[in-house]
Formats: sequence, structure tokens, C-alpha cells
Amino acid sequence: MLQTPEGGLSPMAGEIAAASRPDVKSLAATELAAAFREWGEPAYRLRQLLDGLYRRRATEWGQLTDLPRRLRERLAERFTLQPLALERLQSEPDGATKFLWRLPDGEHIESVLLPANPALYGEGSDRRTLCVSTQVGCGFGCRFCASGLGGLRRNLLPFEIVEQVLAAERWRADQTAEPRPGRLIDNLVIMGMGEPFANYERVLAALRILNAPWGGSIGARRITVSTCGLPHQIRRFAQEPEQFRLAISLHGAADAVRSRIMPVNKRYPLAELLEACREYRRRKGKLLTLEYILIRGVNDAPDQAARLARIARELRAKVNLIPYNPVPGLAWERPEPDRQKAFLHRIRAAGAAATLRREKGASIQAACGQLRLRAETEP
Ligand code: SAH
Repeated sequence: MLQTPEGGLSPMAGEIAAASRPDVKSLAATELAAAFREWGEPAYRLRQLLDGLYRRRATEWGQLTDLPRRLRERLAERFTLQPLALERLQSEPDGATKFLWRLPDGEHIESVLLPANPALYGEGSDRRTLCVSTQVGCGFGCRFCASGLGGLRRNLLPFEIVEQVLAAERWRADQTAEPRPGRLIDNLVIMGMGEPFANYERVLAALRILNAPWGGSIGARRITVSTCGLPHQIRRFAQEPEQFRLAISLHGAADAVRSRIMPVNKRYPLAELLEACREYRRRKGKLLTLEYILIRGVNDAPDQAARLARIARELRAKVNLIPYNPVPGLAWERPEPDRQKAFLHRIRAAGAAATLRREKGASIQAACGQLRLRAETEP
């Protein structure tokens, strides 16, 4: 496979995996406009196409009945229009819903729809959040994570990221009697399978489509990208014009602890990561979120709480503590509830903002990669 030293695929690999025709939902409106100009089509035709794709969420060209047949044929010659197929659905008692999607080439990815909950990322507390994948598998091999167990298979193309939102909206429309129900998803966390910053250009292209008024129309401040900590990409992200949010998967507040949990820390140790975070802060003036999975006997000691609080205060970041969700085939366990709370209170006592994810939600919220794992290991 075409792997770069840091576990990402080379930019070519995704294009090789893709069909020779790009999918229409991988392209920005300006790119589509060029094709429409070339064909001598008026601007309102493009608006009709975008409305069909993103408002009515068409899955076949034939559904775009307001476009002339000849234009539909031209579009079909130039682009594919491929929906994701829902292969499995898992609903949890706490209201979370997990989707296992089949991609056009037969690979599988997951998205998780989180019920309205206290504001963890983004602003609102009554938001419905979709957790979205960016790669099939992952090349970084974090020791707690189900997604990385089989390594990296490939990068997702922009439309495969965009489609996770559209397909979830379609699923919900099928559930309701209303012909055009209101929008389901108003918050995104790019925290599913894969490392978004190892698929940077395609992820950004997808986020721009999801953010655009002609596309997904989800506000940039309601989109949070989570990274295992690639400093050069964090710097790059800080330069983007959009006000996307950033979360860092920290999970260890000293190099020895973090390297044991996340091999990426050996390549990019904490000092380098935190310097890039400072730059993000300086440029964006935005709140960062630090994700910290609590793992019994690995990263839950008082000295880690003290160091974590210091890091969070310095970055003016919010800490999000997540009790480790056991993964079949991986060794660790979560600390007892009292020890989780003690860790939380230590951080707060040291003057940093922190939340502890409630146990029930954690069972599904944290479990990205596990549904695919189960689907692929079951007969
Ligand atoms: N590569 C990106 C996105 C992957 S999601 C990143 O590293 O941020 C990573 C997040 O998923 C973690 O920060 C954690 O919040 C959650 N997660 C994954 N596996 C988990 C597990 N077994 N238990 C608890 N949380 C988990």
C-alpha cells in the first residue's frame, strides 16, 4: 500500500481507489460551475442541482426531475452520484444511534449519532451531533482504539465524508411520516474512524461542502475536528479561514505516559504538540478541547491530573474526560467511578475546566470502530 512514514496514505492512493469519474458530492459549487459554463447551462441550473443533492438528498440522477434529461445525462457521464448503503444500525438506550455504512468499493465505516447532551464541543447543549469517519481504518495504532487494529485501508474521498451526514438525514426521513422533516444534524465531530489530519485536503474539502450555505449548511463553529496530534497539520489548520473547532486526543500529560498509549507521541512529543496548540490559540483565539480517556493504572494517577490541569490552563482549553471503553482484543480497563471523579475534581481544583462523560453515553460515544470490528469478525 502507498503509505507515508507517518502512517498516512500518499495523496495518490485515494484517487487510485476512486473511480475515474469523481462523485458530484466531492466537488465544490465553484468547481461544478465550471462544468456548467462549459456546457452553456445557466446558473439557475446549478442551483437546482445543488438543491437536489443537498436539500432533497437525491441518490440517483433520475430523481433530479427539474433538470432537463440532456443535462442529467451529461452529469452522469462526468460524475458519479453514489449514496452510502446502510448495512447495520445499532440503537442504544441513551438515544445514540450507530450506523455501519458500506462504501461503493465494499469497505465499511461508521458514524455515530449522539443524542442532545450537555455542550461538549461546539456551543449548543440541545444539539444533535454526528460523529463522522475520515479513513477506512487508521495508521496510528493508538492502544485504546478499535479503528486502528487492522491498520489503514484507505482515505475517504470527500463525498464519502459528506454522504455520512446526508445518509443519516435520509435514514431519519424514512423514519418519519412527514415528507420533508426538519434537519436532524446540526453539530459535527470529526472523531470517527481515522485520523482527519492524515487525509487533510479531502477532509477540508468535505467540511467546506458541509459548511457551505448551498451544501450542508452546518456552521463552522459547530464542526470540531479531532486529531491525535500532528503539529504541522495543526499549524496548517490554524491558517484556514473558517472558524472550525479543534480537539486534541491527549490521553497522557507526560511523554512517558502518552507514548505508551499513543505511538504517535514518539514522533511528535508533547512539547512539539503543545507548541502547535499554542499557535492555534494565538491565531484563532478559540477554545481547544483536550480529550483524555481515563485508563486504570495507566494515566489516572494524581500527578497526571496535575500536569493535565497545567496544560489546560496554559492553553485555556477545556478537558473532556472519557472513561475508557474496553475493546475486545485490547487489554485495558476504566478506573472505578470514584477514581474517575477524583481525577475530575483534581483538575477542577487546579483551576481548569473539565467534564466527565457519563458512563452510559460512553458505551457508545467512545466506541467508534467497534461496530465495524464486530461486523468483520462475526461469521
Ligand atoms: N484520529 C482522531 C479521531 C479519532 S477519534 C483522534 O485521534 O482524535 C479519537 C477519540 O475517540 C478519542 O479521543 C476518544 O475520545 C474516542 N475513543 C476511541 N476509542 C475509545 C475507547 N476505547 N474508549 C474511549 N474513548 C475512545
